[in-house]
Amino acid sequence: MAAKEEGPAIGIDLGTTYSCVAVWKNDRVEIITNEQGNRTTPSYVAFTDKERFIGEPAKNQVDMNPCNTIYDAKRLIGRRYKDKSIQRDIQLWPFKVVATDDGKPVILINDKGEEKQLAPEFVSSMVLSKMRQIAEDYHGSMVKNAVITVPAYFNDSQRQATKVAGEIAGLNVMKIINEPTAAAIAYGLDKKDSSYGERNILIVDLGGGTFDVSLLTIDNDIFKVKATAGDTHLGGGDFDNNVVNHFVKEFKRKYKQDISGNPRALQRLRTACERAKRTLSFTTETTIQIDCFFNGIDFYSNISRAKFEELNMDLFRKCLEPVEKCLNDAEMNREGVHDVVVVGGSTRIPKVQQLLQDFFNGKTLCKDINADEAVAYGAAIQALLLSDQGNEKVKDLTLLDVIPLSLGIEIKGGYMSVMIPRNTAIPTKMEHIYTTVYDYQTAIDFKVYEGERPRTRDNNLLGSFYFSGIPPALIGVSEMNVCFDIDANGILNVSAEDKTTGRIENITITNEKGRLTKAELVRMIKEAEKYKAQDEEYKKKAEARRALENFAYKIRNRVKYEKNFSSQLDSTDMKKIEEAVGLAIKWLDDTEELLEADIYQYKMEELERIYNPIIRNM
Ligand code: ADP
Ligand code: MG
Repeated sequence: MAAKEEGPAIGIDLGTTYSCVAVWKNDRVEIITNEQGNRTTPSYVAFTDKERFIGEPAKNQVDMNPCNTIYDAKRLIGRRYKDKSIQRDIQLWPFKVVATDDGKPVILINDKGEEKQLAPEFVSSMVLSKMRQIAEDYHGSMVKNAVITVPAYFNDSQRQATKVAGEIAGLNVMKIINEPTAAAIAYGLDKKDSSYGERNILIVDLGGGTFDVSLLTIDNDIFKVKATAGDTHLGGGDFDNNVVNHFVKEFKRKYKQDISGNPRALQRLRTACERAKRTLSFTTETTIQIDCFFNGIDFYSNISRAKFEELNMDLFRKCLEPVEKCLNDAEMNREGVHDVVVVGGSTRIPKVQQLLQDFFNGKTLCKDINADEAVAYGAAIQALLLSDQGNEKVKDLTLLDVIPLSLGIEIKGGYMSVMIPRNTAIPTKMEHIYTTVYDYQTAIDFKVYEGERPRTRDNNLLGSFYFSGIPPALIGVSEMNVCFDIDANGILNVSAEDKTTGRIENITITNEKGRLTKAELVRMIKEAEKYKAQDEEYKKKAEARRALENFAYKIRNRVKYEKNFSSQLDSTDMKKIEEAVGLAIKWLDDTEELLEADIYQYKMEELERIYNPIIRNM
């Protein structure tokens, strides 16, 4: 809940290239403009020998200060240095990224002559604090509470890191929500008639450097991400580059001079080209005017929308591939999509809209809200719903997100015991009892995984925790109650309680290994579907084995340690049972490989045939 003195609750779209902040005011969403009057602010931070810049001034000096101007922090946040995507991006960034001792990426900068390492969370926190400042300037007082958005494919680690960035910026992060979910909220798609059950919504987000396509279904206010696809290097910046190259060539042709080696000229040209591109979304022709451009030459030229489209047609067409892939992955045809929402500044380009509309057989796209503002718009609505300034009536409409991947614990044999299945609405809490796997075991090393495969080696290790000090007991006697608690931000907290001693340990999952990349996530979900039949077979086998194991140990413990049970057995029966159980346990120990389920069932029946008649006669 937000306290009144903490000001209004804001929604922040923390973008890779541009960020946007919005607030509910006078019964509607206001997009807040920055100090230069712009409705979105570059997610850039720069350090010069004098000062630090955030936003517009940072972006404006990028080509003159390339090594000390940081952008794309969102591509780094919550990932490991060794991540393939980071290794690829490092080749493209002018700034330097190195690994910390624990394998996290940090950005090297020179801050007034001093070399510093900046964590991506820290860079993002600077952008967030700028967005907070913009909101405070508008509101005239402190702003503390915020909803921040992240891409649907962000995993636990990336969400955690984003929340941390908000906290570093002094914000109370009320909730982290998915960008496509926020866009759907902006269009009120959650409140649309749901009499025919689930609504399928395709969110197409073409931004400054990335292209994300998400298929959501909304059913009873629950948003499920059915599939995601995209291109991690396709967006407005690429269109700008094509226009820049066009004018570099034109300048060479007209003035016989090459500007490509001059960063300052290139930067001025790029700024002009981005502006021209934006204008061409509304007009069919525009001009470029740069005074004293190069060697005293004033550069005046023009460009038509047709020329702009021709320069970028290949890239525009490329946008349809992830759309098709996303539908395929969700096993849905074009007709199954109820609404297509266009998000991201680059979907304002008429040609992009036209290609999409044609792809969906002329369907009207949801584009009434400015594409680069829709995510912040939805986040502001969500912030209102979460704050106590929200209307009591709309509180019930607080929307539910789901976890993107199943979460579980590794059990004996390297199998995944799922605690919270994929697409479970959050917040959620689930508990499960785990037990020791050998006699007199005093510590358990719990490994927490995310993923859909039955074997943990195919999933992604989130972290582990070690629970020691368990009083020595026989196998299966000690009971540990493990609780997975996922908060409204999709962030996981784990606790374990030793049922014998009542000791509870709260564990924060610290991320250990390289986390999933978007491509890996998509691959994993797809793979899981492909191997679904196979997976179920494995599960059946593992369950059958576990049932036999449990049964055998239960009998053994009764015979050995329950005095009033064993005292009722005559020595022949006792021997019979001990022998049968001993054989079963030895057989289990000797067969590590998983066998067909009916073999375990057969062994179980064998044991029952000896055990059941004896206890029936007791
Ligand atoms: P992000 O990808 O960081 O979330 P946005 O969704 O705000 O960012 O998209 C930023 C991109 O959109 C930039 O490349 C910008 O030039 C482009 N853009 C913004 N407005 C327009 C417009 N009217 N026409 C074409 N492109 C635009
Ligand atoms: Mg965006």
